[in-house]
Formats: sequence, structure tokens, C-alpha cells
Amino acid sequence: MSKQVRVRFAPSPTGPLHIGGVRTALFNYLFAKKNNGVFYLRIEDTDQTRFVPGAEAYIMEALEWLGIAPDETVGKNEKFGPYRQSDRKHLYQTYADQLINSGWAYYAFDTPETLDALRKEQEAEGKTFIYNHTIREKLDTSLVISTEEVAKRIENGEHYVIRFKTPVDETLHLIDIIRGDVKFETSLLDDKVLFKSDGMPTYHLANIVDDHLMETSHVIRGEEWLPSMPLHVLLYRAFGWDAPEFAHLPLILKPIGNGKLSKRDGDKLGFPVFPLEWKTEEGISSGYRENGFFPEAVINFLALLGWNDGTDKELFSLEELVEAFDLNRVHKSGAKFDPEKNKWFNHQYLIKENNENLAKDFTPTLTEKGVDISKFDITRIVSLIKERAHFVYEFWDLTDFFFQAPISYDEKASKNWKEETPTLMQELISVLENIEDFTSINIETIVKDWMTKNEIGMGKVMQPFRLSLVGALKGPHLFDIVEIIGKEETISRIQKAISTL
Ligand code: GLU
Repeated sequence: MSKQVRVRFAPSPTGPLHIGGVRTALFNYLFAKKNNGVFYLRIEDTDQTRFVPGAEAYIMEALEWLGIAPDETVGKNEKFGPYRQSDRKHLYQTYADQLINSGWAYYAFDTPETLDALRKEQEAEGKTFIYNHTIREKLDTSLVISTEEVAKRIENGEHYVIRFKTPVDETLHLIDIIRGDVKFETSLLDDKVLFKSDGMPTYHLANIVDDHLMETSHVIRGEEWLPSMPLHVLLYRAFGWDAPEFAHLPLILKPIGNGKLSKRDGDKLGFPVFPLEWKTEEGISSGYRENGFFPEAVINFLALLGWNDGTDKELFSLEELVEAFDLNRVHKSGAKFDPEKNKWFNHQYLIKENNENLAKDFTPTLTEKGVDISKFDITRIVSLIKERAHFVYEFWDLTDFFFQAPISYDEKASKNWKEETPTLMQELISVLENIEDFTSINIETIVKDWMTKNEIGMGKVMQPFRLSLVGALKGPHLFDIVEIIGKEETISRIQKAISTL
């Protein structure tokens, strides 16, 4: 690659960033870093009717949280700034004019009413109305009215749009890095609007002008933009500019059934489709961050939606992804979103995370529950149960018995409490009372010796013992629990069980 790699993520701030958009940003990031290039973020807000306050800040925050912040964007290394299209408004008219002057575009004065009527007329005949070469010379366009007349109408403030004059009867053979050769017939394309008399460019014009001015080397974006590729390539031709290379990423599909993953799927099956929570007057849409996901886990599962390194490897750090990433290995077909697998990824990152950090993450919950954390070795407790958790928020249910005596006893497990149990538990108390070195291994050795010497079956003691301490037959190694809660508390819990059960 001779040119410097410069790629962009170019979202429109129309709401919270969908997880599919995050995957697009991630693939751009990985491609940039892999090639020692630049990853920049451009805000495409030319369609003011769809503008949503807060969306731009949300996008920035999401990328920051995930650790894939852009190298250049609004307010950061503005080498080719501004990076917000509404701040570049003054730039686009010249380019639209240039296309008019070179004959690649034309003014169209048709009113919305005329177009509506035409559309209805065509529909009545079972056809679809397309504004293209078959009709552009029959309509109110600068292709059929004199230059003087056009100038006069513009001067009089008449509404117009500038449309692209798509060439007729040409087969475009284009290359997409992921899809290979793709063919388009220009005669089937419509003459898209590029510019409006309110001075605003449309997405197509602004996108091409900016990709050119910002020296974009590769356009990596979602498959839904593939139909725009012929127009974009023709626009580069019309301007006499080199086109960037294109790569259209596969769709992210619903977990069940067919079609694109939507917010509705998330609501139905109970998983987030947004990286961060998004609050509006209508309600809250949940986010991966607020649902207890580690950003590294989100990055990891997103990277594998439509890409793999050619092996079975599933766990990748961001650095490893950068190292392994290759656009040529991105799949053509859609990638199924699997919320259960995403939890598995989070579990993998949770067990890898160091225990001090997990203890820190767990502390707010403990404080909220009224636990005096200075009395416990939270790090050790976390180390004993993390294998069983997918999320830090599950820690409380896995550890509550360390901090408080059981309030009730699992009914099914209580069936193990037999007639002889109270006597055995009394004897166990005496054994425990005499242990000086109250550590897990020592307690275990002494208790087991006592059982062997007196020929007491393991289950007869261990199950009621656990039930007394935990309230159920769950939890980590019993003697670790005994050590952590201490002699006094252990004995008091056994006594309580004897009097209750
Ligand atoms: N603004 C477009 C979007 O919202 C960008 C498409 C592109 O990357 O060209 O996705």
C-alpha cells in the first residue's frame, strides 16, 4: 500500500449508536492500526430533520469506553477539520456548481406536488416511479430550459435541487475488497439529489467531497451502503478524483429467524443492542456497559461478527485483533448475533480479570447491602466464586452467605437433616471449638480425621454442615467458607440450624 491508510467512521447522529455501527467503527479502527494508519470520526449531520441532540456525544463516549477512540475528530487533531458536516456547510456549494458546469449534474425545479402526482400515476399502472434518464428531459430541469431562464428562477428564490446526471447504458465493474467484483447497470440507477436550495448538500455529495478532502484511502462501512457504491464511484469520476477502495461489511443478523438485528430483538429476548444506555422521554434503552459487560468482551465478540483469523481462536485482546485483522478475511454472508455467546465472552474476561479489580467493582454493592467491608477479605471471597459468574452483579447472590447468616434453609436440601443430625452437629461444634489454627486446610484435616475415627459417613456431616452455613447446598469449598466466616460465626450458625431445623 503506497498511500497512507486513512479510514473513517461516519455516523449520522440520529440516535444512539447501534451495535452494528460499533462493529463498523471497530473494523475501521483495526484496519487503521494494522496498517499504521489513521482512524478518524466524521459526524454526518447534513440531514437536520433527523438530528438528535446528545447523539454525537453518545457516539464519542461509546468509542472512548470501548477503547477505540478516533485519532482525529471534532475537537481532536483537526488536521482536515471541521469534522462535523454542518460546520462544513460553506464548502459544498462550490462542488455542486462544479458538477453543474461540467454537465455531470442539473437543476430540477419540480415541486413535491408534481413528483407526488407522477408517482401516483405510475403506481396506478403498477410501475415504480424513478427519477432518471427516462424522464429527466420531460421534467422541469435545466436540461430543457435555457441557461438564462434557470438563472432567473434561481435568483427569484425558486426552490430547486441539484441532481446527478447518471450516465446511460454503462455496466460498471467495481471491486469491493470483501465481495470481489460487483456489477451495476447505470441505466437502473436514479438521479440522486446532491444539493438543495436551502444550501445543504445531501449525504451523497457531502460524503464524497469529505472523503476526498480528508484523504480517505478506504471506505469500510455496512452492507446497506453497497447500493450507493456505483453513484459514489461515478461522483469520483465526475470530479476527476481517485476513488478510495471500498469494503462493505456483512449484516449482523437476528439471533432467531431471518433479517437484520433490530432493537426489537433485543427488547424481546432481553439483551442490549446499544453500547451504552440511552435515555429519552419514552424510556431507557439498555446498554452493554450498564449491563455489566467489560468493554474488552464487547470488542471481542463484535470482532468475531463476520470475521475470524482462520483458526478456532476466539479470545483476542485489542492488540491481538490489530495484529490478526485482515479485511480479506471478512465474510460476505451475514453474521448471526448470539446474546448467550456474548455472555460467555464476558465470563472469560471476568475470570481473567485480577481479583483486586473485581473486589473493587463489587464494593459498591457490598456497601449498599450494609456490609462492613473492613471485616472481610473481599479479594479472596471473589477469587473463590468468580468461576461461577458471568457478571460482577451476580457476585452478591454467590457470596451473600459470607456476610450474613442464612435467614431460611432450602427446602429440598433440608431433607438431608435427619434424626441423628443434631447430635452429630453438636459433636462437630466441640471439634471446631478445639481448633487453634483456624485455617481452611487445618480445619478440613481435623474434621475429616474426626469423621474417619468415628466412622461417620461424609455426607452425614458435610451436607448439614453446609446447609447450616449457607442455607443451601451451594457455594465454594466448605472449609474456605468456614475459615472466612470464622470460628464463632460458624458455631453460631450451626446452633441456629439445630434449633430451627
Ligand atoms: N452517514 C452514513 C451513516 O450513517 C455513512 C455511510 C458511509 O460510511 O458512507 O452510516
